[in-house]
Amino acid sequence: MDLSRQGSAVRADLAEPLERAKEATSTASRAAEIKERCRQLAQITDIPGQTTRSFLSPAMRRCMGTVQSWMEAAQMSITIDAAGNLRGLYPGSRPDALRLVVGSHLDTVPNAGAFDGVLGVLLGLALVESLEGQRLSFAIELIAFSEEEGVRFGVPFIGSRAVTGQIDRELLSTQDAEGISVRQAMLDFGLDPERLPEATLDRAAAAYLEFHIEQGPALESEDRSLGVVDCIAGQTRGEVIFTGASNHAGTTPMRLRRDALAAAAEWIAAVERLARNEEGLVATVGRIEVHPGAENVIAGEAQASLDVRHADDAMRRSAVERLIAATESIARARSLEARWCLQMDQVAVAMDAQLSQMAVDAIRGIGLQPLRMMSGAGHDAMIIASRLPSAMIFLRSPGGISHHPDESVRIEDVANALNAGLGFLRGFHKVIIGAHA
Ligand SMILES: [Zn+2]
Repeated sequence: MDLSRQGSAVRADLAEPLERAKEATSTASRAAEIKERCRQLAQITDIPGQTTRSFLSPAMRRCMGTVQSWMEAAQMSITIDAAGNLRGLYPGSRPDALRLVVGSHLDTVPNAGAFDGVLGVLLGLALVESLEGQRLSFAIELIAFSEEEGVRFGVPFIGSRAVTGQIDRELLSTQDAEGISVRQAMLDFGLDPERLPEATLDRAAAAYLEFHIEQGPALESEDRSLGVVDCIAGQTRGEVIFTGASNHAGTTPMRLRRDALAAAAEWIAAVERLARNEEGLVATVGRIEVHPGAENVIAGEAQASLDVRHADDAMRRSAVERLIAATESIARARSLEARWCLQMDQVAVAMDAQLSQMAVDAIRGIGLQPLRMMSGAGHDAMIIASRLPSAMIFLRSPGGISHHPDESVRIEDVANALNAGLGFLRGFHKVIIGAHA
């Protein structure tokens, strides 16, 4: 993390106000309030009986209104940028202070849980509330991103893309299922797409921190409360199509068959075998379509999806190459054809080493040992990392359950995250002082 290019000198002593803030209100009660607020926001939904909030929807407007009122009560000044991101600024002790950006998202998948995204926003808010109006040597900007999940437009991270200046004409003209473009959705919400450039983070923004539930079982299986993300995995998505010949299931001898489904089955087993034997690799065939798809007909064609993820791009690409080679050898042995179609190649994104170490130190500072981990899922931090040094702290997901109404979080883990967050603010203060010494 290089802060030397940033603006002002910073002197104020952070340790004392933070200590006082900690004394003033117990973190346990704040943690309970955070969880309660997550449950409250989960009631704000586009589809009654669920938690479903999509980009710039009526429920999103109400949700933003509630979060905005909490931000204002915490003495933050509010703006809503042209992409609908709700942004609260808690000023530093000087007008030209550098800024720590803390954020996560308010949108959800259909029929979601209460904590994915929202928890990160409310933890950031609780950090500011813990300061109880006392000014630090740096400002804190809390961003509640308007869109992360990619549900409405099939394009994820619209909120964080706006903040990093990555919204182009093509994205603006992308349409939802009702034929409404991103641009039109912004106008309908009362936003001005022409003002998108103003949403971009300015030079005072120095670093980004995101809290998020893990959405997986790793922390629970290691009996850890918190984790620090070293890297967000790179991802390959594609499709394999095996083409053989469909024929009668009763009259075609086994030796004369060109069974596309049997070939796909052999390949799917090879995908699992390869991933089990490579450290850190996950590979999934999550969908298969078979034609003609009748009980008494040999399958003439099978289309199988492939999703491969790894922290190391070279490892991931090598695994994908081996899996493509496997389709060819399986097809050859069965006198079939195999075609590979690449749909997505997203490189891995490393979190900032120094900022992540600060997160590790902060967690150790409250007597816990964080798990250093890879995130298999994408997050706003992977977009913001292109612009700012970024770090992510994961909270344990009970049962590893996410994107589901049963998604949960333990209050003690929320309290730990809040305490670690306060420690992180202290560490951040030292780095800024060091950069200007
Ligand atoms: Zn999320």
